[in-house]
Amino acid sequence: MSRRLLLYVTGTGLVALALLATHVPAALALRWAHYVAWIVICLVSETMWSASLSGEATWSLAATAGLSAVVLWGPEAGMWIAGLSTLIAELFVQRKPWVRASFNGAQSAMASLLAGLVFAWLGGRSALPLAGGGAVLDRSAATALVLPFAALALVYFALNRAMVALAVAWTTDRTWWRVLREDWLYLAKLEVDAASFLLVPLMVISFTAIGYPGVLLFYAPLFMLFQSDRRFHELKRAEEQNLRNARFAAKGELAAGIGHELNNQLVAITARAQMLLKDAERATFDNAPRHAQIILDQSRRMGVLAKGLMDYTRSQVNVEPMDLNGVLLGTIELVKGDKRFRSVEWDVDLDSQLPELKADVGQIQGVFINLFVNAADAMGESQGRRAIRVSTVLDAAARAARIEVEDTGPGIRAEDLPRMFEFMFTTKKEGHGFGLSTSHRSIENHGGRISVESPQGRGARFTILLPLRGPGAWN
Ligand code: ADP
Repeated sequence: MSRRLLLYVTGTGLVALALLATHVPAALALRWAHYVAWIVICLVSETMWSASLSGEATWSLAATAGLSAVVLWGPEAGMWIAGLSTLIAELFVQRKPWVRASFNGAQSAMASLLAGLVFAWLGGRSALPLAGGGAVLDRSAATALVLPFAALALVYFALNRAMVALAVAWTTDRTWWRVLREDWLYLAKLEVDAASFLLVPLMVISFTAIGYPGVLLFYAPLFMLFQSDRRFHELKRAEEQNLRNARFAAKGELAAGIGHELNNQLVAITARAQMLLKDAERATFDNAPRHAQIILDQSRRMGVLAKGLMDYTRSQVNVEPMDLNGVLLGTIELVKGDKRFRSVEWDVDLDSQLPELKADVGQIQGVFINLFVNAADAMGESQGRRAIRVSTVLDAAARAARIEVEDTGPGIRAEDLPRMFEFMFTTKKEGHGFGLSTSHRSIENHGGRISVESPQGRGARFTILLPLRGPGAWN
């Protein structure tokens, strides 16, 4: 820990201790049981957390419960409740290092005190019915509470974020403003903060109206929502893991085939190099240009295969300018190395007027590989003509490129057609049913569409529409 960070963390701790010592709640002897109960409520709230669907932000009911305590029991008691519950939760539930837990306890106590003072100063406490007194807010009191509530949230979140961001900035060597922007000031997080804040008045009203049963009524449905949300996230994670496994399996299988092909070429190159050496020993160079040409051709082909493999195995989403025709030709070259494409004829008709697209080359190439492998599998060892037709054309009206991949296999049964892009739908003995569902997702990621037809008496025909402007474009 750097010196300035140590000073900052120690300073925060000392200021918080001084504030706690000088702001002991006046009604401690009378209300201590309530305070303990609210510490427990805050602790339970810490365990009710969820991640936003984007995975970018997590939120819990901790801030909601802490701010409710500040509103209900005043700034001093609120400071004690928020500070102690944060400290206990971080130390014993989340098991954070004690320095971080103490710092967070301290900053949460300070932010709660200041937010509570501003709330009281704006008349929030006098407009509020007595806690647990069974009173119901009338409309004028509710209106008078809008400003104090907004100020409470604003002060709490501003001070809390500002203080934590400084500690993060000094730990990670980012600027304070950059930490704020990257870690908190983005839509998913702001939505989550707004949700925690908007729940505060509801929690306060439930408690002031019917006391602790009100807190239970408030928590029970949220608890169920959190539970089902957690189950949903677990399922999603499992599904993503399956997809990743399948992609790896497919990559491995393809890589093995390509490795075999690369090895064959290496054998050819080595043989020609040896012949060249022998010729050099005998000082006869008649065949030298032929040997050199073969070495050059094979090396180029190895280069194409190696690049294709590298594009395919790249895992992060990376949108870049893409020459669609070039990617298709490269992918065809790549799969030709695999034995299942041995006797396949390629009928390629590419539109030379196609403009440059914006896309993730690795993902798009993955889609083509899936379609080609499926086509080759469908045609199997058939004695008839085994051919894959690949075409591209510019669809000016849709501002998209239209790609078609058609094979001469047996086609798809009518009852299977609607299930083609279903996750884990397969008719193959060794199949997983991941290829087409992954492809569907990749194309959708790009704002495009993929569909399939199987005309009577012909093979399957897949059509992809890929927008020219790439995923998420504004213009
Ligand atoms: P997998 O190849 O593991 O079965 P996919 O999602 O790639 O998974 O394909 C799902 C199913 O779609 C295949 O099992 C097959 O029944 C069918 N299918 C895909 N492409 C074709 C095709 N070109 N011709 C006939 N059937 C196909």
